[in-house]
Amino acid sequence: MGETLAWKRVILKLSGEALAGGAPFGIDPEVVGRIADDIVAATALGAEIGIVIGGGNLFRGAWLASRGTDRVTGDHMGMMATIMNALAMREALAARGLAARVLSGLAVPTVCDTFTQRDALAAFARDRVVLFAGGLGVPFLTTDTTAAMRASEMRCDAVLKATNVDGVYTADPKKDPTATRFDRLTFDEAIRRDLKVLDTAAFALARDNGIPIIVFSLQEPGALVGVLEGVGRATVVAG
Ligand code: UDP
Repeated sequence: MGETLAWKRVILKLSGEALAGGAPFGIDPEVVGRIADDIVAATALGAEIGIVIGGGNLFRGAWLASRGTDRVTGDHMGMMATIMNALAMREALAARGLAARVLSGLAVPTVCDTFTQRDALAAFARDRVVLFAGGLGVPFLTTDTTAAMRASEMRCDAVLKATNVDGVYTADPKKDPTATRFDRLTFDEAIRRDLKVLDTAAFALARDNGIPIIVFSLQEPGALVGVLEGVGRATVVAG
């Protein structure tokens, strides 16, 4: 199983906003369920999926800092938001018969286990799905950086960055109708063209560890399987 996949072990980076659906914030159980269906379908093909979920649908540290509160406190709250999202996804996967382990970079031991590389590798081997919650457990970082870090630690084949557009474009396709999509890009080209694929720290980590970044849209059901099989619409940033 898994021999036909272009990418077998991946980190799927979901923004918190992806879980809110059309709402300005919060968790939409229907949307979480739809994404969970895609993840179940992908694991049935033999993929091993580490999921890094953001928290922007609930809280971002920078919001509080912009109102004069300590940034570190805000980031702690943001990291806890990512744990809430991970728990919601774990329940949606469990409801579909898929056991997934939540491992958090921020220690909240009465809620979920704390991340260690050894436990995470064992969880991949046993369950095929690991939810990486709590970011990296330290402030001033993002879950993009978490995705690049966990991908490096878990020896993943790629980071799959789910966005609301199906790849990287020359300009914002929602604002510029002449924008065109790249099928492939090198890391250097993405920098030269100033294309924001991941945030800067995350991008540098992925580049330095030779981890391709696949940008795609999760809007269409089955999109995740298409990307894993190497046939879905996406932009591959590599080498
Ligand atoms: N965060 C943090 N350290 C980390 C990861 C995340 O402090 O290693 C905090 C930060 O406040 C961030 C929030 O968690 O704003 C939510 O993460 P992110 O903004 O990456 O979520 P997304 O935009 O993907 O929904």
